[in-house]
Amino acid sequence: MNGSKPCGRVCEPGLRSIPEIAGSRRPWRSLTQRALSVLFIGLLSCSAPFCPAHAHSFVSNPPMIWPDGDVGVVLKLGTPDRTLIDGNTSWEAVAAQALSTWNSHLGTIQFSPLIQNPGMGSDRDGVNQVFFGSRVYGESFGGLVLAVTTIWHDGTTRTEADVIFNTAVSWDSYRGPARRVGGKLLCDFFRVALHEFGHVLGLDHPDQAGQTVSAIMNGVVSDLDNLTTDDVEGAEALYQARAPVITVQPRTESGLFHLTMTGLTNRNHIIQASTDLVTWVSLTTNNVTNGELDFMDTNLIGSSARFYRALVAP
Ligand SMILES: [Zn+2]
Repeated sequence: MNGSKPCGRVCEPGLRSIPEIAGSRRPWRSLTQRALSVLFIGLLSCSAPFCPAHAHSFVSNPPMIWPDGDVGVVLKLGTPDRTLIDGNTSWEAVAAQALSTWNSHLGTIQFSPLIQNPGMGSDRDGVNQVFFGSRVYGESFGGLVLAVTTIWHDGTTRTEADVIFNTAVSWDSYRGPARRVGGKLLCDFFRVALHEFGHVLGLDHPDQAGQTVSAIMNGVVSDLDNLTTDDVEGAEALYQARAPVITVQPRTESGLFHLTMTGLTNRNHIIQASTDLVTWVSLTTNNVTNGELDFMDTNLIGSSARFYRALVAP
């Protein structure tokens, strides 16, 4: 067995490194390491600089990434004893929405969620598991830590990532500014899941890499409740941009053109039309908020051909 070697990406100053945690999956060749990435409570203000530098950071350099294809994620979260603020009735549903949000931007891999009975996961079993726990495989979460993502890898290939949400935190699921109840943070499970799954992808905290940028991947939870351009560009740098997919074929029911396709969340998309594929006229600018672009041309299409295209606005 090789000796252990924490990766040094433990992000909260007060959280100690975990010694003696890793051996080698293939001891004769490569060292497999585990590091922890954590999101902790901090200032509940959303820092959105006027002109942010887009410079996401990665867990390692060179980055460790998943092989092409599906990345299975076992959700063992269970159901809350109430309906959550956003209407969800299971933690798995919220986690699946967070995975799906990332999936809409991932080209070479896709998260593939699988729901199992709630309970603890197992460390270093080659299965990616998401669950609630009061400790991180025997280790303390440390103060103010909301969740931890473990990082197992073989060279630059990711092999396992477990996400453990701290049971000591008051969880709910809602959009908008971070809420407090009785002075205590009511933590939005969705945005923290987005953040942790970003670690699963291989992203790290830009704010702890000397960057000032609006990002769900910043190490402090804030009013930000969804991915930003910086987060998406970080994921695309690792797994390529996801090609647009037409989800509803353009149809001419009632003589109208109606298109639904995937788009880049929080980006404007310009819909243009042409009759000769040479001259294009902009029809509308459509802001994509949930990863889906929906466009209906209210003008009746005449007998001549009309072509459409969608461009991501600069
Ligand atoms: Zn983090």
